[in-house]
Amino acid sequence: MPKKYHVNVQNTPLDFGYIYKFRIVRGENCINCGKCTKVCIYEAHQRSEEDPRIMADPNTEVCRNCFRCIQECPRGALEKSLFSEFTGTGGEYWTPDLLLTLWKQAETGSVPVSGAGYRGPFTGEGFDSMWTDMSEIVRPTRDGIHGREYISTSVDLGRKLNHLVFDSENKLVSKLENLVTISIPFVFDMTDYDLMPELKEAIVKAAEELDTFVIIPVANIAENMESYCNNIIPLLSLSEIENNEEVIKKARLIAINYSEDLAGNFTSIKDKITKIGDVVTIVRMPAVENVASVVAELTRKGAEVVHIVADYRGHCIDNSAVSNGRYIKDIIRDVHAELLSNKIRDEVTVMASGGIALAEHVAKAMLCGADLTAIDLPLLIALGARIYEEPEKSLVMPEGLAQVPLPTVVQRIMNLIGAWHSQILEMMGAMGIRDIRRLRGETGRAMFFEEMDKETFGKIFSGDKQ
Ligand code: SF4
Ligand code: SF4
Repeated sequence: MPKKYHVNVQNTPLDFGYIYKFRIVRGENCINCGKCTKVCIYEAHQRSEEDPRIMADPNTEVCRNCFRCIQECPRGALEKSLFSEFTGTGGEYWTPDLLLTLWKQAETGSVPVSGAGYRGPFTGEGFDSMWTDMSEIVRPTRDGIHGREYISTSVDLGRKLNHLVFDSENKLVSKLENLVTISIPFVFDMTDYDLMPELKEAIVKAAEELDTFVIIPVANIAENMESYCNNIIPLLSLSEIENNEEVIKKARLIAINYSEDLAGNFTSIKDKITKIGDVVTIVRMPAVENVASVVAELTRKGAEVVHIVADYRGHCIDNSAVSNGRYIKDIIRDVHAELLSNKIRDEVTVMASGGIALAEHVAKAMLCGADLTAIDLPLLIALGARIYEEPEKSLVMPEGLAQVPLPTVVQRIMNLIGAWHSQILEMMGAMGIRDIRRLRGETGRAMFFEEMDKETFGKIFSGDKQ
């Protein structure tokens, strides 16, 4: 059994000025009784260091919104009010609460606690219309998922054989395919963001520590990143292959942008790459409506990994009326079903990205049929970035980030991934699944609101009451 995968997390605050959801205010009627210091387990309430007879201002930063201090104050002296700056951040998909959750995870590396419980709707769009089946949670594991219990989160990138062929002397005839294994079910994708060299280096360094990869356009690979070539996936266009033979030779994985030229000449292009280096090739393609049939065709021609990319809110990026409103989860299900019906599912690795904002999205994308995902924006949010969806997508990185020491930036990313890894382990433990590869396409562990809605009410509202 391989060594247990573990992410070392440690508290790593970054002084960039969070935007908090609530502001706690202590009113003048406070009698300095100190009861709030006892009831708040997050130590938001402390006595003043200068004069212990009076209370210091509440520390909103550590508050988890449980409202206990407000209920227990004998004078009703505490108030909470919403920060308008908080509600103006993010958007419909990258909600302010989601940003705050990611900031907190990157700071502490622990699973988020909301304090007042979940009070939102039980369904929504995209991944929010999926529920996971946690029925195995009633069976306690021997000593828990963080103890001796072994749960593997490793995934493979590459083709797998449908079966093995042996000759009459029982010698293996089948040629085993080149396969790259990583310890977590996602890679980092820095394709859309050309960051400062310091941040790029921090992200590849974190990928190295975490045993995963970063996808970077070949033109954006800086000299200071050469020592990390084992953890970089250079992204190339077809015309860039010839001028980058040295890069391809050093890489374990490369990514090529999809084009009709590539689809038409896939076999000869793959042969050409194989002659340059022993790499696994990823075809990166947009999440358009007909992507399932294109993936099946590429798989028949020998594609090893296909990366399907939706927009940053997880929408299909084809603007046609027919695809309007579809999400990456629907696209993944189509692709998985198409490959299954062609009996070629195991021959290709399917990676999905776009709108992967939480650990649960990783598990849900896999339940829909992806082998792994790629994440982008959560890494930048971990470093304090704020995103605004309206009037158009914009990303604001905190000032002075380039001056933050490399180990601090790396640790924030490790904390985020540590928190996600713990959550994925919790989910798998609750599902009774010990190997994340088994999550792929395991729709028996998922419920889809649209389908249940149709099943339950479809007959009534369609007029077919039989
Ligand atoms: S419990 Fe209320 S009255 Fe007592 S110290 Fe806290 S805020 Fe003041
Ligand atoms: S609301 Fe809860 S977490 Fe926040 S300060 Fe009061 S007791 Fe502490």
